[in-house]
Amino acid sequence: MKKRIALIAHDEKKDDMVVLAAEYTNFLRQCLLVATGTTGKRISDEVGLTVERMLSGPFGGDMQIGAQLVEGKIDCVIFLRDPMTPQPHEPDINALVRSCDVHNVPCATNMASARLLLSQLAEFHHADAHVHS
Ligand code: PGA
Repeated sequence: MKKRIALIAHDEKKDDMVVLAAEYTNFLRQCLLVATGTTGKRISDEVGLTVERMLSGPFGGDMQIGAQLVEGKIDCVIFLRDPMTPQPHEPDINALVRSCDVHNVPCATNMASARLLLSQLAEFHHADAHVHS
């Protein structure tokens, strides 16, 4: 079963997200990716991954991802938040992170935790592929 991974990065963190997506391309290519609008465009243009794009974050993209998450359709969230810049859609951001906690969905909000999470998921995926081959 393909993992469904949500990718969101605030403007100051979008370069980091591109770096992350490039590092884990081999694994991410085998996942179903969903992202907020601009983040998704950058990942697809610059890394070449197929990404289902929602609206941009400030226009409701976080809530669209949150709606999928509460229905059990998202396995993991990588949400590179910018802790230094106020965001107009702060309530949506908090709602998405809260939904992760309510539904026990892993959520990484910085590069260090994102790398740990993706490394572990990639390892599980690899082990799983061996068991089923
Ligand atoms: P974006 O949305 O990927 O469309 O920029 C994320 C955000 O900045 O909230």
